[in-house]
Order: sequence, then structure tokens, then C-alpha cells
Amino acid sequence: MGRLDGKVALVTGAAKGIGAATAELLAREGAKVMCTDVDETEGQKVVDAIQNAGHTASFMTHDVTSEEAWEKVAGETQRAFGGLHVLVNNAGIAPDGIAIEDLPFESWKRTLAVDLDSVFLGCKYAIRLMKECGGGSIINISSIMGLVGTPRSSDYNAAKGGVRLLTKVAALECAEAGYNIRVNSVHPGYIDTPLVRNVVERSEEASANELMGMLTMLHPIGRLGTPKEIGQAILFLASDESSFVTGAELVVDGGYTAR
Ligand code: NAP
Repeated sequence: MGRLDGKVALVTGAAKGIGAATAELLAREGAKVMCTDVDETEGQKVVDAIQNAGHTASFMTHDVTSEEAWEKVAGETQRAFGGLHVLVNNAGIAPDGIAIEDLPFESWKRTLAVDLDSVFLGCKYAIRLMKECGGGSIINISSIMGLVGTPRSSDYNAAKGGVRLLTKVAALECAEAGYNIRVNSVHPGYIDTPLVRNVVERSEEASANELMGMLTMLHPIGRLGTPKEIGQAILFLASDESSFVTGAELVVDGGYTAR
């Protein structure tokens, strides 16, 4: 018996990093997984690997900032798999690393669109589908930067802090309406993914090795996290094992925010 047998899951940003690891874990636990991303080539590879392991998945190209695209993905998930029980709002981009006084308004708006608008749209379309399926679980990927501030990350901090509270409102609305839909946020520390590798490599302040060393020291556990370690937390929230958990913040950060 898988922990998600009979469930349908949708994972955004599933082509790499946390999304790819999560899609693989959810599928291995019995979910039929709709994987979406803007990166069609890498996304299809993730789906091929899931299918080759004997599990069920499908890929759709999906820009999470587009309401029209969300409507299409929701419709196709319903058509292909018969409903939706788990949504992982994972797709995201890193901050531009620029102080507020210099940050172009367009950069601010882009980060807010990909990292926050997407989560609103995902909740909107998932609630509509899940309430027809008797309930579900929405997992919104925030960050430690949704809990504490970091200089030169105003766009990302604002978006991820927004995800934290949007999650609580969605949880309350679903509970009040009696939809049996739980909504929670996950707050990873630094995780070794392409997103972090890109930030490290384009830094002008230190070499990639120095920067990885500095990031490691921020985590009392003494290392960065792995995508699978975030996937395991998401799996718990997706499964019925977390049936009394809603509106919660699950921090998975190697102790980053403990001090
Ligand atoms: P990643 O390795 O960059 O993977 C994210 C995926 O999302 C990429 O395939 C990316 O495509 C895709 N994507 C970007 N914009 C999109 C859009 N508009 N619509 C659909 N897909 C889009 O990132 P990750 O590190 O796994 O991060 C996943 C989530 O965790 C993000 O929300 C991130 O903020 C959050 N998070 C990450 C960390 C960390 O340390 N890695 C820590 C805390 C929170 P492209 O590569 O083509 O852009």
C-alpha cells in the first residue's frame, strides 16, 4: 500500500530541484502525478523516469503566472486523472539580489508574479477541483525567507511572506466551508538545487566555493538540505497522516531559523 494510493497530485516546477524530487516521491507512494513546468525538456525527463519506474505521471507546459494556463492545467488534470487531491505550489524563482533603492519595479513585479500570484492562482483552481473530489491537501512552498528577512531580497521575502499568510487564509476558508481541504506551507532552508547553484555561480561577492561554505555555516546541522528532504515533508502533508494539520508552517531548515 502506498501512502497516496488513489490520489491525484499536481506539482508545479516539477522539472528540477524540489519539484522533481517531490513528483517522484508522490508517484512512488501511489499518486497519479501531473507534472508542470516552463522547462518542457527537463519536465518530460522527470515524467519519463517516473513512468520507467512503473508509476503514473504526465507532463504539461505551464507558466504559473498565467490564469489561462492554470485553467487549462486544471481541466486537463480532471480529464486525464479524474480529479485532484494534492497540489504542490512549488514553481519559483530566486531574488534578484538587489537593494530596494536600486531594484527595478519590473524585477519586483516578476518575482511577485512567479512566487506569489502563482500560489493564489493554484489555490483558486485547486479548491474548485478538490471540493468536487471530497477534499484534498494544498502545500505551498514558502521559504525561511517567508519567516525572516534578508538584505537584498525584498522581492523574494515579500512573496514568500505573502505565501505564508495566503496559506492560512486559504486554510481558514476551506475549513469554514467544510470542504475537507487542508492548506499548509513548507519553509525550506537552503537546498542544493539548480536555483541555489545559479545564485551561487552568478555571485560577484565571493567564489562559488566560498559562498557554498558561507551558506553551509548558516545551517546548524552543518550542510545544505537535499530536494528529497523537502519532498518527504511535502509527502507527509499530502498524505492522510497529517489529517489534523491545516494552516500550519512546516519549517525544514537544518536549524537555520532556530537561533
Ligand atoms: P529550481 O531548481 O530552480 O526549480 C524550479 C523549477 O520551476 C524550474 O524548472 C523552473 O524553470 C520552474 N519555473 C520557474 N518559473 C516558472 C514559471 N513561471 N512557471 C512554471 N515553472 C517555472 O528551484 P528549487 O530550488 O527546486 O525551488 C523550488 C521552490 O522551493 C521555489 O518556490 C523556491 O522559492 C523554494 N525554495 C527553494 C529553496 C532552495 O534553497 N532551493 C529554499 C527555500 C524555498 P527554469 O529553470 O526554466 O526557470
